[in-house]
Amino acid sequence: TETATVIDGKAVAESVVETVKSAAAELKQAAGVVPGIAVVIVGEDPASQVYVASKGKKAKECGFHSVQHTLAEATSEADLLSLVEDLNNDPQIHGILVQLPLPGHIDDGRVIQAIDPEKDVDGFHVINAGKLTIGDMDTAFVPCTPAGSMLLIERVRGKDLSGLNAVVVGRSNIVGKPMASLLLAANATVTICHSRTPDLPATCRNADILVAAVGRPEMVRGDWVKPGATVIDVGINRIPVPERGEGKTRLVGDVAYAECAEVAGAITPVPGGVGPMTIAMLMANTLVSACRHAGRTPPA
Ligand code: NDP
Repeated sequence: TETATVIDGKAVAESVVETVKSAAAELKQAAGVVPGIAVVIVGEDPASQVYVASKGKKAKECGFHSVQHTLAEATSEADLLSLVEDLNNDPQIHGILVQLPLPGHIDDGRVIQAIDPEKDVDGFHVINAGKLTIGDMDTAFVPCTPAGSMLLIERVRGKDLSGLNAVVVGRSNIVGKPMASLLLAANATVTICHSRTPDLPATCRNADILVAAVGRPEMVRGDWVKPGATVIDVGINRIPVPERGEGKTRLVGDVAYAECAEVAGAITPVPGGVGPMTIAMLMANTLVSACRHAGRTPPA
């Protein structure tokens, strides 16, 4: 029996996109500026192609100027860097996104650090990571997945998390670490766990807010969850379902949903939780960038 409130990420994402849409229309009206996003993809990775296509589609839905650069797998790092430089200098482009992972012969880090930090709507540049760490949110870009997760947490717990313990499982630069910084900025007491954490279940049981960003299907079990906790499942894992036929798969998170929903106070489903928030926050970051470039205050 499920007792937890199911956090509807799809609905929250739609409301973010609605706000972005109307703010973009207003920016165009008031300043003649249309937010522009450039998405760069190198190679043929099918999952990346799906992500890139959906980003372009959502950008158009928001009324943005959207361009996609599709480069061959064999593209040199120098050519990719020169495209990034062109986009840095293109006044119609306010957001640059290079889809990761890049082919093995290209250094991801070098390419990300070549993006103008003021157009780094993924928030992966060290300047933006640094700003988030020191709490300068007004000029930073915050990575989209943790930013979206934070909005979902706010819906349940409000903006001030004083007195609450937050546990983040995962310490990646794109999810775990920025997530921890956001929770800390909201006054939670934050613990970050990873593969060397000795007693993960006991640490998680201490969490009023539990964020799983591990990449291991259904790792977080029901008895890891403190009764009433808010559980945010960032994981997206495709697992085989042989009983449905050969080659059939389904998506599961890093949280064993059914078990945890019996204990948690609120929980995000997979799909339909954090996933839709990521792309919505990308649109929000691009709008914010366009506003900043136009010298206008972005909407709250
Ligand atoms: P990474 O692989 O970069 O990081 C995984 C983290 O989990 C690492 O810090 C690792 O620890 C930790 N970890 C791995 N195994 C264990 C374990 N057994 N016990 C404790 N900690 C463990 O993944 P990402 O952060 O990029 O992504 C995490 C998940 O989120 C994935 O499922 C990914 O698909 C999903 N994701 C979803 C997005 C969305 O839009 N919703 C966007 C981005 C990611 P260590 O550092 O010690 O190796």
